[in-house]
Amino acid sequence: MLSVDVARGRVLEAIRDPLPAETRPIEATLGRVAAAEVRATTDLPPWDNSAMDGYAVRGAEIVEASEAAPVVLRVAGEAAAGGSAGPAAAPGTAIRIATGAPLPAGADTIVQVELTTPLNADGSAAGPRGGQAIGSIPASVAIHATVPIGSSIRRRGSDLLAGTVVLQAGVQLGPAAIGLVAGSGVSSVAVHRRPIVAVLATGDEVRSAGTAPEGSGIPDANGPGLRALAAAAGADVLDLGIARDRLDDVIERLRRGVAQADIVIVSGGVSVGPYDVVRAGFEAVGRIELWRVALQPGKPFAFGTARRDDGSQVLLFGLPGNPVSSFVTFEIFVRPALRRLAGHADPFRPSEPGVLMEPVTKGRGRRAYLRVELDRRPNGAPILDPGGRLQVRLAGARSTAGQGSHVLSTLAAADALAAVPEAFEDVPPGTEVEVFRLDR
Ligand code: AMP
Ligand code: MG
Repeated sequence: MLSVDVARGRVLEAIRDPLPAETRPIEATLGRVAAAEVRATTDLPPWDNSAMDGYAVRGAEIVEASEAAPVVLRVAGEAAAGGSAGPAAAPGTAIRIATGAPLPAGADTIVQVELTTPLNADGSAAGPRGGQAIGSIPASVAIHATVPIGSSIRRRGSDLLAGTVVLQAGVQLGPAAIGLVAGSGVSSVAVHRRPIVAVLATGDEVRSAGTAPEGSGIPDANGPGLRALAAAAGADVLDLGIARDRLDDVIERLRRGVAQADIVIVSGGVSVGPYDVVRAGFEAVGRIELWRVALQPGKPFAFGTARRDDGSQVLLFGLPGNPVSSFVTFEIFVRPALRRLAGHADPFRPSEPGVLMEPVTKGRGRRAYLRVELDRRPNGAPILDPGGRLQVRLAGARSTAGQGSHVLSTLAAADALAAVPEAFEDVPPGTEVEVFRLDR
């Protein structure tokens, strides 16, 4: 049996390149991975502009302004967002300005509208003090307090300069990255194509959703579960249905998957029983690269490859039929492969150090992935031990029995998988584990 690390290394080595890049409008890149670095095409902000609604002034002229002795400046014009900077602020004048409007020449300071009163030509108030800076431009403005020179100005390039790298290759586009790229003047981005993942369930006993499971039938958990895992990891998914435990049925569906998908996942039928025909199926459409991994749950795992007529490669994953085993082997092997195809620089989930709060037993020589819950405070925050490690306990049914590879309820209750090294058999409380938080 291969170790988890060796097997996963070989799966990833089989992927020479991520999927090809395509150029898409920035609006259509959520969840995609950048295929090349992206640089800003504009300074941000593109020009000096106002951070406030108010008046652009020469700061030196208002240093004496106070409640007792306001400074009155003639209002020579207006600078509006999206408009021109208005006339220059000549000595003794102010320019009414809106947030985001370009800074008028001559002005070096913005006084926010709250510190001003608009005045008529005869010096009477044209509106309330601190009123909104809307309506017709007042003849002049009284400034009731000083502000430091340079106040409320957002300088050109103070966020970033044209040419700055705003997105690295291999990084996934989230909402903030999309806002940054669009805001820095870039309208389209080269991103990798999304992987296409086809999922096939197998088993004479497995019934599709909505079919009454008469006799010894059981509802299909793995088809829907694996398609959801693939979609959550960034794939487009195809449903190859449920194959009977017959080689010809498996081969026919595998062929369909190989023709259409980058990854074909099969659940069940990969072990050594008389009806386990999936490995023979892989050999009919491609070849087996490795089989059997020292993993708990998930030992009967097979990985293969197939080639299409155009030379492109399809990855074949044979996962155990037990639903938790199929979930765990997806996490360990398929998700990193899928992310590598999608172009992610780092295909792995981050891990955090944790400490097991309960005793567990496992098979010696196999890496165990336990379904665990985090100890939490009433506000939901995880509790750390004095060493800063996450405190974890077996999820759901608080016993090793709940860790059986068929027990879906404890999988659904789990916050994370905790990896226990191969060497352990009886695992005492206090053992350090590597914790991988799951998408909930
Ligand atoms: P197998 O790997 O085919 O020997 O299946 C192992 C166990 O997983 C058996 O108890 C199967 O009934 C069960 N199983 C296989 N496929 C599924 C599925 N799609 N949904 C739920 N259970 C399954
Ligand atoms: Mg089966």
